[in-house]
Amino acid sequence: MARFDGRVGIITGGASGIGRATALRFAAEGGTAIIADLQDDKAAEAVREIEAAGGTARAFHLDVTSEAGWADVVAFALSEFGRLDVLVNNAGIGDTAAIEETAYQTYQQVIAVTQTSVFLGEKAAAEALKASGRGAVVNVSSMFGIVGGFGTSPAYAAAKGAVRTLTKNTALGWAAEGVRVNSVHPGFVETPILGETDRALLVGTTPVGRIGRPEEVAAVILFAASDDASFMTGSELVVDGGYTA
Ligand code: NAD
Repeated sequence: MARFDGRVGIITGGASGIGRATALRFAAEGGTAIIADLQDDKAAEAVREIEAAGGTARAFHLDVTSEAGWADVVAFALSEFGRLDVLVNNAGIGDTAAIEETAYQTYQQVIAVTQTSVFLGEKAAAEALKASGRGAVVNVSSMFGIVGGFGTSPAYAAAKGAVRTLTKNTALGWAAEGVRVNSVHPGFVETPILGETDRALLVGTTPVGRIGRPEEVAAVILFAASDDASFMTGSELVVDGGYTA
């Protein structure tokens, strides 16, 4: 019996990078992956890859800043599959400038996609996760939700710090109701979010001397989502090659 047999999970940002690696492995281990993302083509491609490997997945067009969209994706999980067991709040965007050069609108947009989305997702999924009897939420924060980074990207650092404490807040609220909530804090991982950032700089500041692979974070996300972590809630799992050590 595989770890996620019979379980249904929503993975936001599942069309790319860490979310995609999480969806692929979740499905490979028996789960039904609902890939909720803005990028329809890439989400459909991930679904095809899962199906070709014998797994089950669906793509769902979701803007994680939309409360109505969240109601729709949870309703989709329940109508198609009758349950929801796992929620991975992974979608996120970053800013790059120093605070003096960051427009208020940019700040608000990063907070909406990277932080408020976690509130919306947890709220929309609460009832279904409690009904699951083994509900698990994994919120993807960042090492920059723990330390302040390079002194740039103020919205990203603020959002990821808030995801860390919102995780603990919800974990306490739901602890007696059987829903576990944990956060994962990646370091530099080779995905499109890194953009043109100088890779040598990232490697140079990472003690293990390399950038991480999406699969290395997915493994930890899925540990937290699985019964292997059945006594763990409100915890922060750091996967950063030693950056914050
Ligand atoms: P990525 O850019 O490959 O994936 C992000 C995904 O989120 C994309 O598929 C994108 O379409 C989706 N997305 C963006 N806005 C959305 C919205 N409004 N609604 C729905 N989907 C939306 O990047 P990634 O590195 O895989 O990022 C995944 C998570 O990991 C993010 O929360 C990111 O902040 C976090 N993280 C990444 C790194 C890294 O170095 N890659 C480090 C720390 C934390």
